[in-house]
Amino acid sequence: MPHIAMLSTNQDNYAYILRLDGGIIAIDPGEAEPVFAYLEEEKCGLDLILNTHMHHDHCQGNIALKQATGCKVMGSDERIPRIDEVLTPGDKLPTPAQTLQILSTPGHTLKDCCYYLPPQGEHPGALFCGDTLFSGGCGRVFEGSVEQLFQSLQSIAALPPATLLYCGHEYTLDNYRFAEHIQPESLAVRRKRQQVEKLRRSKEPTLPVSLKEEMVTNPFLRPHDSALRHALRMEESTDLEVFTALRQRKNRF
Ligand code: ZN
Ligand code: FE
Repeated sequence: MPHIAMLSTNQDNYAYILRLDGGIIAIDPGEAEPVFAYLEEEKCGLDLILNTHMHHDHCQGNIALKQATGCKVMGSDERIPRIDEVLTPGDKLPTPAQTLQILSTPGHTLKDCCYYLPPQGEHPGALFCGDTLFSGGCGRVFEGSVEQLFQSLQSIAALPPATLLYCGHEYTLDNYRFAEHIQPESLAVRRKRQQVEKLRRSKEPTLPVSLKEEMVTNPFLRPHDSALRHALRMEESTDLEVFTALRQRKNRF
């Protein structure tokens, strides 16, 4: 069974430690210190760093961690600091990451990727989705196009519904405030916002969350939804047009 630990880094980032048969992987170590503290406490080494994209808040820790542990660094963008191997979808990852699959998810940057761990025994599977998909929201478009991001979210939506999402930031409350702002009539969204608010009041993480849950309340995964379209007065628009309008409105929120 995989074991996943979440570490707070920077202001509101999460790095993840994934323990699989054969070794230990750090995903998006935006800072080295919390990872060093984990390794020391667990008395273990680090075999591999995987980054979802090249932004500092996701890979700043690469340099010190690689220097101290000799781990390999991999990701889908050659701009990632200290990278050893640039990955493309379909690539077979080395031990201990051999069960992970790479999903190309451009939009936030041109070369974002997500790492998918398929279900194993009782574990429903996990997606490490960086800044592509957040609980209640999605990443901003920095380098890619809104259409690319839309397609990337579509490919995530096609994963098994029980998949647990491990996002790169604790942005959930802000996202659900926005979701409620655009869809004040939605009971599901209001309940979700209240639940998230309660968690954050006691400083608890709102992640991971299942894809199934997000499909019900995350507006960026629901551009087809008639109630949402009605709230936006976009009944006649395409899904991409609805998604684009949501992204623009969230940018200004
Ligand atoms: Zn980013
Ligand atoms: Fe980020």
